[in-house]
Amino acid sequence: MRLSRLHPRYESLRIRDKLVKGFKEGIVVEHGLLAHGRGEAFDYLLGERTQDFALEAIKASVASLLLSNYPLISVNGNFAALCSRDIVRLSKLIKAKIEVNLFHRTLEREKKIEALLIKQGAKEVLGVGERAKAKIEGIASKRAKVDPEGILKANTILLALEDGDRTEALRKLGKRIIAIDINPLSRTAKMANITIVDNCVRALPLMVKQAKVMKTFDKGELREILKNFNNEKNLSRALKFISFRLRNLERDSWIA
Ligand code: ATP
Ligand code: MG
Repeated sequence: MRLSRLHPRYESLRIRDKLVKGFKEGIVVEHGLLAHGRGEAFDYLLGERTQDFALEAIKASVASLLLSNYPLISVNGNFAALCSRDIVRLSKLIKAKIEVNLFHRTLEREKKIEALLIKQGAKEVLGVGERAKAKIEGIASKRAKVDPEGILKANTILLALEDGDRTEALRKLGKRIIAIDINPLSRTAKMANITIVDNCVRALPLMVKQAKVMKTFDKGELREILKNFNNEKNLSRALKFISFRLRNLERDSWIA
């Protein structure tokens, strides 16, 4: 489909097209398309912009990743289809490993995501096929599989659009979790150490931008940024923002 830049929902339609393409290529699954729909609804409520609380969470996340001695980016189908280029860029800036970790795991899909990341310049992609031979406690079947050199070993994990019980299982293993989740009410959002309440399409390029600046900071500065961040307060700011915005819209609405 050819999209007109003049369409009022051009950006949102462009993102949908990327996901549909990912679906046709076997990178995204049906459930991923549905999850995106839920995300879009929250993006409406956020005004389809990165708000100040998200930017603060982004800075704290980059500080945390730069301070970590084993950072990792966990990649699923939607995240790969939407952000592969910036995932690879960020991984290089913060020296993080990349692992494919799918909710609906098949070897074919793992390999396709690996190929996409390699095409974008990734040197190594963990978690594909036989490599994912470790299991994490608390989740059933194939969803529990992880790479012993990746998620199992990492101490700080960046993930996006992740399911709540997997986030919970990773927290129980003592991992520091940074989640990009546009729904401040989801279990993942509540469970993570740092939650970036924003669309991953906007958050990732901003993380790359911040990483370029912040990698010149000394450890003391990074620790200070992290110390001043409180995830509970940040999530409550996101909810306050949504309700404030809705009240304003209600007041200014056409229902006179
Ligand atoms: P949870 O399992 O954490 O309670 P959920 O069951 O509502 O969440 P999942 O499908 O498990 O949803 O996880 C996907 C999450 O990703 C949802 O919270 C959804 O709002 C969010 N999401 C969807 N699209 C995007 C996007 N483009 N950027 C950021 N977050 C997104
Ligand atoms: Mg879920």
